[in-house]
Amino acid sequence: MENQGFLKDKVGFASVAIHAGQDPEKWKSAAVVPPIVTATTFKQPATAEHTGFKYARSGNPTRNTLEECLAALDGGKHAVTFASGLATTNTIVALLNKGDHVLSCDDVYGGTNRLFRNVSTRQGIEVTFTDFTDLDKVKNAIQDNTKMIWLETPSNPLLKVLDIAAVVKEVKKRGDIIVVVDNTFLTCYLQRPLDFGADIVMYSLTKYMNGHSDVIMGAAVLNDSALVQKLRFLQNAMGAVPAPFDCYLVNRSLKTLALRMQRHRTSSLAIAKWLQQHPKVTEVMHPGLPTHPQHEIAKKQTSGHSGVFSFKHSGGLKESRKFLSSLKVFTLAESLGGYESLAGLPSLMTHASVPEQQRAELGITDSLIRLSVGLEDTEDLIEDLSQAFNASF
Ligand SMILES: *Cc1c(COP(=O)(O)O)cnc(C)c1O
Repeated sequence: MENQGFLKDKVGFASVAIHAGQDPEKWKSAAVVPPIVTATTFKQPATAEHTGFKYARSGNPTRNTLEECLAALDGGKHAVTFASGLATTNTIVALLNKGDHVLSCDDVYGGTNRLFRNVSTRQGIEVTFTDFTDLDKVKNAIQDNTKMIWLETPSNPLLKVLDIAAVVKEVKKRGDIIVVVDNTFLTCYLQRPLDFGADIVMYSLTKYMNGHSDVIMGAAVLNDSALVQKLRFLQNAMGAVPAPFDCYLVNRSLKTLALRMQRHRTSSLAIAKWLQQHPKVTEVMHPGLPTHPQHEIAKKQTSGHSGVFSFKHSGGLKESRKFLSSLKVFTLAESLGGYESLAGLPSLMTHASVPEQQRAELGITDSLIRLSVGLEDTEDLIEDLSQAFNASF
């Protein structure tokens, strides 16, 4: 087995994905596939009474179906969905008050970085960034007003792995601090942060969870009943809710999540190994490889890695451009997590907004290429990479 040494796959995961929240009896029609309810308002039996639904911003049957399924898959009690991953993050940060401090890991998703730096700070939230692979740095960066910790593991595009349980242990000593983990890269199939003490699991469902590159949506999954009440209030009060049709699509996509993640895991590891022995490749950043600096942490908190990883080659910007334009099966595009394979150059694409100095410090060079290995045949993907190397070196 290629995922040897990692956590075992969760028994029953696929059954939960197919059945949790999907009970046909909850619909008058007993529909086996949940209907898309587009109504914005629901008839009330008497003045100021309702049968569970009033107005679709505050609750929608298709959305509830998806939320039940999402909660169950992460081993959580509650899930709350939003119009995008960033709408989720923005709403989670709105749990805080003016003057509160968020401590974030340093190479978070670019959009999260932009939201924290350019929006949250203007609203009176203090945000600082630190390297969470070093627990001493985390210890020193926690302040008296720290109310939230923001983790992303593995990170983007460098695939740094953070020890969720160790961070939680350190942080909880210091008081009532909400630990949020952005689990977009691995999904609940490969990593379940609530099991390691995180308070909120955050998703861009846009990526692997939906997996078909045709929906923008986000979610927060959690256990705490007081916290979910606050998030539900904010979901309704701030209003960044997803559309019923999109909820239907994500709910449908979850039915194949286990199969898709198994395939992403196997194919990406095979390609990472192939790249490692390629003469033009100088470094492969993939947590499934024993050479990865946090491979041991990855083994104890995940059941393997997904399809997204990066590598460096011995050329420069010219070779990168030629390589990317020579690919025929991989598509040159941003994003990740879909059934189709994508390739990109973070320094000029997803991470172009990161200042050059900071990019250099982090190691996001012009020879760093990020792949999102999709569900095509592994042999075709390797053949494609091989011909692109031949065309560009
Ligand atoms: C894409 C992404 C987001 C933002 O999600 P959207 O759905 O695009 O708003 C947040 N975190 C990570 C890790 C992502 O990849």
